[in-house]
This record gives sequence, C-alpha cells and structure tokens, in this order.
Amino acid sequence: MVKNQIVTITIEDIGNDGEGIGKYEGYTLFVKGAVIGDVAKVKVLKAKKTYGYAKVEELISTSPDRVTPKCPVAGRCGGCQLQHLSYERQLAYKTDKVKNCLIRIGGIPEQQLEPMMEPIIGMEEPFYYRNKAQYPVGADKEGRPVMGFYAGHSHNIIDCTDCAIQEPVNAVILPVIKAFMEEKNISAYDEEAGKGLLRHVLTRVGFQTKEVMVCLIINGKKFPDAEILAKKVAAVIKEFKDEKGNGGYVLKSFCLNVNTEKTNVILGQEILPVYGENYITDYIGNIKYQISPLSFYQVNPQQTVKLYEKALEYAELSGNEIVWDLYCGIGTISLFLAQKAKQVYGVEIIPQAINDAKVNSKLNNLENAEFFVGAAEDVMPAKYKESQGTMKADVICVDPPRKGCEESLLDTVAAMEPKRIVYVSCDPATLARDVKYLEEKGYELVKVCPVDQFAHTGHVETVVLLAAK
Ligand code: SAH
Repeated sequence: MVKNQIVTITIEDIGNDGEGIGKYEGYTLFVKGAVIGDVAKVKVLKAKKTYGYAKVEELISTSPDRVTPKCPVAGRCGGCQLQHLSYERQLAYKTDKVKNCLIRIGGIPEQQLEPMMEPIIGMEEPFYYRNKAQYPVGADKEGRPVMGFYAGHSHNIIDCTDCAIQEPVNAVILPVIKAFMEEKNISAYDEEAGKGLLRHVLTRVGFQTKEVMVCLIINGKKFPDAEILAKKVAAVIKEFKDEKGNGGYVLKSFCLNVNTEKTNVILGQEILPVYGENYITDYIGNIKYQISPLSFYQVNPQQTVKLYEKALEYAELSGNEIVWDLYCGIGTISLFLAQKAKQVYGVEIIPQAINDAKVNSKLNNLENAEFFVGAAEDVMPAKYKESQGTMKADVICVDPPRKGCEESLLDTVAAMEPKRIVYVSCDPATLARDVKYLEEKGYELVKVCPVDQFAHTGHVETVVLLAAK
C-alpha cells in the first residue's frame, strides 16, 4: 500500500476514535468518517507496514446504520466521533467493546460472560446531555471573535455556539459574550503569541436546579465592564426556553478565572467573583453538591445517577456495612453509598476534591463519611499495614482513571476481604486486566453493566460486581 493509492473496501469495525476499520488484501485501513457497513472508495493518506490511514473518496453503498448528524459541524469537530452512526448501533458497539475486553484480556469464557451481561444503559434522548462546556476563544482572519470547539487533533477553533450535546442554554450565552467582545473591542487570546485577554468561556448548568455558572478565563486580572456583561447574560438566561418550551434557568454565578500562563491547561487557580456566588448547586439523586469552576463533577448527570444506582445495587447495602470508595473525587459515589451504609471512607489524590467532598457531606448532613487525601495505592497499603492486617471492609468500590488500579492496591483490596467489590471503569481494557488479577486473588466476576455516559463518542463506562469466591 502506498500514499494516495485508492482502493475499495468494506468497513467492518470501529476504532477507538470512532473511525471505520476495513481491510484491503489483509492490510488494515483506518478511515475517518466511515461507518461500519459502508462500502467505500478510500484514498490512503498515510501508509505504514501493516496498516494505514485513509479518507473516504466516494461512498459506493452506505451502511444501514448511517444517520445524518444532528450537528452541522460533527464531521470536523473533535468532540463527537460517532454522530453519523445510529444511536442503537453506538450502544451495540460499546457493549461489544466491553465484552471483547473481558473475553480477550480478562480471560472470561464467552459462555460464562453472556449471562452476567446486563443490557447497556443508554440515554432516552442522547443529545444536550453535558452540564459543562469549555469553549476556546480565538479570532478569525478578519479579527472577529470566534468561540466553539477544537477540530479533531488540532487547536483550530470551529465556530459553534449551539453544540448538540451541550445543555441548550449555552446557545444563548455565547452570542452575548461574542457581541460584547466586538462592542468593547475585547481581544481574544492568541495561543501562539501568548497575548490577548479572553481565553475560554466555561459554563456549568445544574440539570435539576437550572442554576447556571459562566466563568471567563482571562489572561489578566480584569475584564472590562464585567458586571454589565453579567447582567446581559443573566437577562438572556432568564428569558431562555428550550425546544420543549422549558425555562426557569437562572444565572447563579458569573466569575473570572485568572490564567496568565502560556499553557494548554485551561483553568488557573484564582477566581474573581463578578455576580452571584462562586458556585452552583446541583443534585445527583437526593444528594446535593456544590460545584465551583475548579471542581470535578460528572458531566452527564442524567446517566451518572443511573451509574451510581447500579453501583449501589451491586453494593447490596443493608445499613451495617463498612464501605471504602477509592478514587472518590468529590465524594459523589461515597455520599450515594453513605445513605445506605454504616460507614463510608473515601480516598482521592486531589486535595481540593477532598475539600469539596467534606463540604458536600456536611451539606447533606451525612456524618458517616470520612475522606483521606492521597494515592489509593499508597494510602491503602499503608493503612492496612498500620492496622496489622485487622482493617477489613464489607464492600470496596473503585472508580480509577483510565490506567486502572495498581497491583499493590488490588493486593490490599483483596487482603481486606470485602464480600463484594464494585468496580466502576471508564476503560474496559484496564478493567478487564484488573478483573483478571482479582480473579487470581479469590474473586469472581458476577455482573457487568455498561453505561453510556458519553453518547456520540467512543467512550464507554462500565460497572461490574465481583464477589468473594
Ligand atoms: N468517583 C468519582 C471520580 C472518578 S474519576 C466520581 O464518580 O465523580 C477518578 C478520580 O481518581 C479522579 O478524581 C482523580 O483525581 C482520582 N485519582 C487519580 N489517580 C488516583 C490515585 N492514584 N489515587 C487516588 N485517586 C486518584
């Protein structure tokens, strides 16, 4: 295979970034924008020894699973990868991804796995689901402000203020900020030069409370007439109604975040209040959370509650249990479990998140949750050693980042002899690896439930239950 060669292939699989995968005489091609079931003439862009990258030149026959994306910039924007694939097919793909990992990496025989698999929990309406947006701000060739999203694998900004997966109220906020920039001649930040004022617009929306936060991330300490802008934003938010005619939104927080560093990191540490509070409040189930611009908070609240309910179901709590929630973030799962357990302990590496967890447990009057800062793989073995092996648990929940858990942590988890381990994972490959390790330590996989937290992207979240053999 050589660059610029044109071949006809059938797309047979989906890659990790949502691209189509097909073979030509045994040679694998990754094709952006192609869908499983498509037959296409593709042009090779880059050829390696055994595989290459290509783009669609002409669709010869289209897959029955192909749909027209809701969003006009879906093909260029780096945010969604699967909008052109029907939602049912996306869910089937995600289920298969989880299954394949557990079979191939986890070593679970397929016949054994099949009855453990629960149907994937998808969304009823897989659009407008995100409660947090971070729009980069730049300028077009004429110097006019643009804001939207980065194109895939680049820092070119695609102007888009009404993203199809963001909470719809965003669509009225951004045009006001844009017009204000033009009116007051406010410069957009230029990444290359490190000059210009407005870098990003961060918005957060409480799905239950309809409270809105707007935070301008600026390369400086002042934003001209910020109070006037805040009032304009408050006015459009108050008037806003979504497609179904639902309104009731309120601007609860308008603030500035100072970031004068030349960096890819979006937020700085300093927050300057302009209007209202520096946080919004929202609920997951019955639990109330205070969310600041810097807090980590799950971005799809409608699915998060389903994920946590599943974790709670798997934990099978009766009220007498000692539970550990490792990688607890701001204590979201911990507090959910604390409603039904005797005592919950959370461990998390980021000190600020633990502060939030403590504030949130007070806010909910949950006194049976205690939190520790540190790496789970350091904190747990140390505590276990200190207890001389007496530290036990009834249930241990883990929710690690993509790289999964370290063996030293899993060793300690097994040594604490919980009856059940609930593993929440954002990467089925590392989940499967860790399941295999825990199987060797005396646990067996009992149930698996994929949850779609990120519709139209290739990501899949999974909750599994492991029980002591
Ligand atoms: N359970 C939480 C957060 C899950 S995200 C929720 O549902 O909201 C994973 C969390 O693990 C992040 O908060 C991250 O900061 C934390 N983390 C990453 N590495 C860690 C480690 N080695 N030990 C403990 N926490 C870690």
